Amino acid sequence: MHCPRCKSGDTAVIDSRLTEEGRAVRRRRECPGCNHRFTTFERQELSSLIVVKRDGTREPYSRTKLERGIWLSCTKRPITQDQISAMLSRLEEKWGANKKEVSSSTIGTDVMKELKKLDQVAYIRFASVHREFKDVEEFKEELGKLFT
Ligand SMILES: [Zn+2]
Repeated sequence: MHCPRCKSGDTAVIDSRLTEEGRAVRRRRECPGCNHRFTTFERQELSSLIVVKRDGTREPYSRTKLERGIWLSCTKRPITQDQISAMLSRLEEKWGANKKEVSSSTIGTDVMKELKKLDQVAYIRFASVHREFKDVEEFKEELGKLFT
């Protein structure tokens, strides 16, 4: 999304909320270059995004479901609803950019990467729940990093 003032191609989402019963997203954006704030109204067809699960079965993408899962990992951590909303908006743009399908492992990996930047404990919780670690040793290694 380009900044309408300075045309910089790199603007940040600072707030995001669903309107029209979830069919559109209203976003507040800020340009890191000139600090210009503006609102976009994006009618993304995310309802048509399909998640391909590990066993090859498919189901419609649900932000609500994913958000609930993320919150389970963020319980009692210093993470705000705004941070989660902005994170999901960024990721949804990526997932829906070129294709109609996204794999559940891509979703898991992307969310993990973002959580890692936000909060290490939430990251470890999410990763363990979603069994993204290849084995127990890898999990222990990540846990170990927290305490060294
Ligand atoms: Zn700008």
